[in-house]
Amino acid sequence: MNSNNKSKSNVFGDMPAEEFKEHGYKMIDWIAEYLTDIEKFPVIPDIKPGDIKNKLPKNPPRTSDSFEKILADIDEKIIPGVTHWNHPNFMAYFNSTSSGPGILAEMLSAALNTNGMLWKTSPSTTELERVTVDWMRQMLGLSESFWGIIYDTASVSSMHAIAAAREEVTEYSFRQKGLSGGEKIPKLRLYASEHAHSSIEKVAILLGIGIDGVRKIPVDNEFKMIPEKLSEAIIEDRKNGWRPFCAVATVGTTSTTSIDPVDKIADICEKERLWLHVDAAHAGVTAMLPEMKYIFKGVDRADSLVVNPHKWMFTPIDLSLFYIRKPDVLKRTFSLVPEYLKTAEDNSVENLMDYGIQLGRRFRALKLWFIIRYFGVNGIIERLREHIRLGQLFASWIDKHPDFERMALTPFSTICFRAHPAKINSEAEIDKLNENLLQRINETGKLFISHTKLNGKHVLRLSVSGIRTEERHVREAWELIQIKLKELFMQFSC
Ligand SMILES: *Cc1c(COP(=O)(O)O)cnc(C)c1O
Repeated sequence: MNSNNKSKSNVFGDMPAEEFKEHGYKMIDWIAEYLTDIEKFPVIPDIKPGDIKNKLPKNPPRTSDSFEKILADIDEKIIPGVTHWNHPNFMAYFNSTSSGPGILAEMLSAALNTNGMLWKTSPSTTELERVTVDWMRQMLGLSESFWGIIYDTASVSSMHAIAAAREEVTEYSFRQKGLSGGEKIPKLRLYASEHAHSSIEKVAILLGIGIDGVRKIPVDNEFKMIPEKLSEAIIEDRKNGWRPFCAVATVGTTSTTSIDPVDKIADICEKERLWLHVDAAHAGVTAMLPEMKYIFKGVDRADSLVVNPHKWMFTPIDLSLFYIRKPDVLKRTFSLVPEYLKTAEDNSVENLMDYGIQLGRRFRALKLWFIIRYFGVNGIIERLREHIRLGQLFASWIDKHPDFERMALTPFSTICFRAHPAKINSEAEIDKLNENLLQRINETGKLFISHTKLNGKHVLRLSVSGIRTEERHVREAWELIQIKLKELFMQFSC
């Protein structure tokens, strides 16, 4: 086919269907090969800041580029700067991998390109979201009192939770009067543990609570919030003129995946009339496993909950699930319907724009629909269970090795550990050794792990949650870590 002719006959329109098919098939082949051969790539690229940008033209092309050329540039100029999140040896942070059904659903969502702001603007977009979110509620073992909605990220889900909590406690006066609404606006206080995710403080920045309005509650030696300290803080704050209004409990904290005692925190929130929000962004999906049900003990008493399928349920980023037991409060917080968005069905349907800050809404539910149906609930459970098994296996190797030690409990598949050879006793030297070890491991391009600080100590962190990660990858990772320690050790001893 002659592409010149095609573009001439189509000066004003979209890519012709024939061309779309041709490139579409090639693109699918490209993706399939990429995912099959992904282990050929280094997990993290070996490049310097600006390396990719410098290879790209400064100015946009005036005339049409062929699709072949664009795709060739992906291989030559873009892929060399990609960190391969889908790589089975990506064990840093909380890995989030995509999956075949998720990728295809994402494509379909772009093709349909519905905007689910109102029921009327695409009934299926709203109704499939209602259905899949309720499927997930059942899978997670949550009671029917939870109403759910899809947002992009956990940060945004938590923002909606805390905004709803803020409006409920101030009788919707923040919404009406704003920050300068006079002395009636109380000094609001939000509680979260020292190990809560930074998104909670960002929400405080956004909602006018301020970083100083967030009180960090100390954790015990297992990095779990100490409920008694929460009680004490609330009492003390009330005396000092604060208005305690919300507590955030985390199920699977970001550093160690520790689990706050949600049931005890719920007791306090009920007594003190605080909104309880549970952040289970990473680990929440594992509540599907009968043997992991315990992680949600007390969650049914929370006012709201966030779980991210885009973290550990093979869903291409982004897709965050938000559950709330008082959707009416969320609606009263955010609903504002201008004339041009009123519809005849307003009283008989849910218009999802009423339940959040965004008007336009992508058709994200398609991803859940495809993934849950393709793998089945059992298929998802088996994969998550395998990741937890692999995490426990790695933890057992750490525990058995005299030169390594585990630095936190491992309730899921994230292991906090460090090298600590018997000969080295100074904490500063152990820190240095582990910093060097991390750098050496990651610069091989064969494995990507990350770090955190626990009680001031530099700790390495390996997390298994990728759909392509098998036992052999975890074994190879462990071998590499030991080899790199030996290499460092030889240097150390000379
Ligand atoms: C990753 C994570 C978040 C932030 O998730 P985003 O979807 O990237 O906003 C929040 N809380 C916890 C516990 C997390 O692990």
